Amino acid sequence: MDLSLSKEDLAIQSRARAFAEQHLFPHEIATDERKIKEKTLVEIRKQAIAHKLNAYNHTKKDGGHGYTPLQQVLICEEIGKATCGLWTVVFKASTPLKHGTKWQRETFLLPFNAGKGRSCYAITEKDAGSDPSYVKTKATKKKGKWVISGEKWFVTSADASSVVIVHAHVDGDPKKPTLFIVDKDAPGVKVKRIPQFMHSYVYEHYEMVFDKVTVDDNRRLGEVGQGFDLTKEWFTETRIEIAAHCLGAAIRATEVANHYAEERVQFGKPIRDFQAIEFMLADMAVEIMAAKSLLYRVAAEVSEGMDPKLVHARASAVKLYNSEMAGRVVDKALQILGGRGYMRENPVERLYRDVRVDRIWEGTSEIQRMVIGGQIKKRGLGIYTGWGG
Ligand SMILES: Cc1cc2nc3c(=O)[nH]c(=O)nc-3n(C[C@H](O)[C@H](O)[C@H](O)COP(=O)(O)OP(=O)(O)OC[C@H]3O[C@@H](n4cnc5c(N)ncnc54)[C@H](O)[C@@H]3O)c2cc1C
Repeated sequence: MDLSLSKEDLAIQSRARAFAEQHLFPHEIATDERKIKEKTLVEIRKQAIAHKLNAYNHTKKDGGHGYTPLQQVLICEEIGKATCGLWTVVFKASTPLKHGTKWQRETFLLPFNAGKGRSCYAITEKDAGSDPSYVKTKATKKKGKWVISGEKWFVTSADASSVVIVHAHVDGDPKKPTLFIVDKDAPGVKVKRIPQFMHSYVYEHYEMVFDKVTVDDNRRLGEVGQGFDLTKEWFTETRIEIAAHCLGAAIRATEVANHYAEERVQFGKPIRDFQAIEFMLADMAVEIMAAKSLLYRVAAEVSEGMDPKLVHARASAVKLYNSEMAGRVVDKALQILGGRGYMRENPVERLYRDVRVDRIWEGTSEIQRMVIGGQIKKRGLGIYTGWGG
């Protein structure tokens, strides 16, 4: 069993680390204070290209770099160390666009992967969260065009996007979930509200209304009824990505806490010499080791061409484990830092707020457990507890 990273893997990892440290970390406080400037974001995007990180999850043919899933995880781990969601400035086209028509690939996929335009993804609604079959956004064909009406919640990065990929039910039929690529400035697209959240994410999460928005059939992404399958493929990929961000967040918090435990003196000795602190650091290190082993193993298996059904099953496990691990580890890091860990200027305080959503978006922890429970029933416990074979 070869567990080592190749020379190429290590080079990509070190490029991503340098990028995060030099081009993301310095802008965290401005982002937290909602003062980051557009010209800074432009510079970060330029640097993402210079470090060959844009479109990191796409093939060369699709305008990416052809990185393996393991290499993608290494990148997400490094950029995931940055707070306030700055990792999202490293742009990439939404995964389902790769399944588009020739026109859709040329108009959206390739330019978005080069940083010209961006898409956001709108599935969730007031009454459709964990269960997207309750989506009420409806698409009806009239005189050869699609008329889309409905309301979407939590549309992440909508402010930075030129198009919205809208998950709608054709004729209001939940058996016909379908994706549509809608221009953000098309007549009938309105921003209803810009709610604020626990984290200070670099972009906004809009509530949007689609009021009889009319689009040509060439804006339909995939077949009628294929929407959920395309979304599921995207979920699988983003769940692994989130697991990698969480790993990076936990490592950064632990590094800050470890350094502080070394230099902070109370009762005449460094606090790391108190067993209470040392044991916390020990638990954090072991949690990270377990999470990293799990994530790299699954990423390596995906790189070797694992059956997509198994990838879906295991992506839920890594997302569940790593997001919950990050919550536990960052909480301990904050405790080690005492009052300083509670200050917004400390990255650990920001990570504490940042990682909470990782147990909610792209499927809550409960939904991941439902997937895992269902997979155990269908394929047997061995897909999680076994090894090989
Ligand atoms: C910051 C942020 C950004 C987001 N970005 C996007 C985005 O870009 N696009 C998008 O479409 N959506 C986005 N979302 C929405 C996100 O995917 C949903 O919040 C998530 O899927 C959960 O849905 P919900 O909030 O409606 O909770 P609900 O589904 O109402 O769940 C409420 C609670 O019930 C539990 N629950 C639900 N069903 C079950 C069950 N069967 N068994 C056990 N427990 C259950 C849940 O786990 C949760 O604890 C975002 C959310 C946030 C907070």
